[in-house]
Parts: sequence; structure tokens; C-alpha cells
Amino acid sequence: MSEQTTTDPLAALRAAARAKAEQREASKAAHHAERVEHGREKRSLDELREIARRGAAELAGSGIGADDEATAEQVIAWAAREFGTSVAVACSMADAVLPHVVAQQVPWVDVLFLDTGYHFAETVGTRDAVEQQMDVTIVDVKPELTVAEQDAAHGKDLFGRDPALCCQMRKVEPLHRTLAGYEVWVTGVRRDEAPTRTSTPLVTFDEKNGLVKINPLAAWSFDDLLAYAAKHQVILNPLLNDGYPSIGCLPCTRRVAPGEDPRAGRWAGLDKTECGLHV
Ligand code: SF4
Repeated sequence: MSEQTTTDPLAALRAAARAKAEQREASKAAHHAERVEHGREKRSLDELREIARRGAAELAGSGIGADDEATAEQVIAWAAREFGTSVAVACSMADAVLPHVVAQQVPWVDVLFLDTGYHFAETVGTRDAVEQQMDVTIVDVKPELTVAEQDAAHGKDLFGRDPALCCQMRKVEPLHRTLAGYEVWVTGVRRDEAPTRTSTPLVTFDEKNGLVKINPLAAWSFDDLLAYAAKHQVILNPLLNDGYPSIGCLPCTRRVAPGEDPRAGRWAGLDKTECGLHV
């Protein structure tokens, strides 16, 4: 009687997935070792101010919105030349377009996720998918107090009574503390997002946080963002297709109606329009 062999049809797929994961881990470890070896002291504020001034002059073309303004890729190429790996990308996990654009030229770049404790499950899921699938390094930026500790110290649901203080403690202060370790931060701010953002420059010096700030997608529209995501198969937060064109913390974000201002769902009913990160 012939000997029967059993084969697992998924074995080859599992092995390939394992090999790919090992390859990514090795690439990430090598990159981080190189960062440690070639890391240098953060330059002085005056030096960084001067770099921002030169960069703004070099990349702005004839002015905001002009045809000769630098593209997102050109802005990132400049940042990679000027700052090496001392780059932080801010990402709300509404989409992973900005991390994708930056990682093309700065692999394993640090992507800062403001872990407020109040996110939608879909946003946390997007963060996890980005960490598992993209060549970036997720850095969870946490507030000093957990939600329970904040409730005990300031009363439950502070966001409903004093959202400015809640944002200050859960977003602005933790980001400020984290940015102290970098020379430049990259944001996804676009001029078309809100009247407060129409004159967003490509490069500026962020006096409040003490480092250079670049906004490489400033000239993009929401459609440009979606087109890039479709072309490069970039991860999107599923809420974007569920009536949330702008996604923040769950208690402070509601769906918007078709045709409504995309940011109308943020702190709806209050005169607050910004969390304080970009003002
Ligand atoms: S968006 Fe709302 S819940 Fe989130 S930190 Fe600001 S006030 Fe608090």
C-alpha cells in the first residue's frame, strides 16, 4: 500500500508572508541602527530658522498657489537633504497618504499618531494597518493623563465643557513634547480644508514648537488626495467613505451632509474650528 502524504495548501503562502515580515523587520532594524550611528545633535533654533527661510525662498516659486510652486515630492526631497532622518510626520490616520509620500524618500520615517484615547475604532484600525503594511515607524504620542485620570482630575467628559483644555492636554502638549526631538515636522494641512488654512506655506518655522514645519500637500485638493490614494493603493480610514471627510476624536466629530463644509463635523455647535496644532 502506497504511503499517503498530506500537504497544506496554505503552507507556501504562510512561508512567503513570514519571509516578507522578516525582511521588513530586518530592513527596519538596519535603518534604525544607521540612524543611531549617524545621529547628530539637533541644530540651534537660529540655524533651523535660517534653513526654513532658505527653503521657503527656494520652494515657494512666485507665491502661494503659483504654477511654479514646488511639488510635494520636491518639498520632501528638500527636507530629506536638509534634515536626513530627523523628520517627523504628523498623521491623524484619516488616511495614510502623507506617510506614503514621505516614506518614498525617507524610508521608516517616524509617523506620530496622537493617541488621545478618544479615537474611533476605525482610526485605531487604520493606525494598525499602516504599521503592518507600510515602511514607516509609528510613534504613539500619549497624553500625560489617561482618560480615566483626566476624568478624575477635571470631571468626566471635559471635551463637552472645555474642549480647548482637553485638546491642549491630549494633543497640543504631547505633540510639543515629542517634537522637541526633531528638526522638522511634516503635516498634511491643505489650503482647501478651511478658511483658516488658505495661506498655508510649503515651508515655515514653527516658533511655538521650535522646529521647521513643512506642508507638502498644501496645494492639493481633497480629490488630489483621493486620486493619489487610488493610484498607490494607500490605506484609507473607512470613515472617509461613511460621511466623515474630516476625522478627529469620536466625541468631537459628526457626519457631514453632502455639500456641507468638510470640517463642519468637527466640534459641531461650538465656535472651535482647530485643535490648536496648526495655529
Ligand atoms: S478633539 Fe475632543 S476629545 Fe479629542 S482632545 Fe480635543 S476636545 Fe478632547
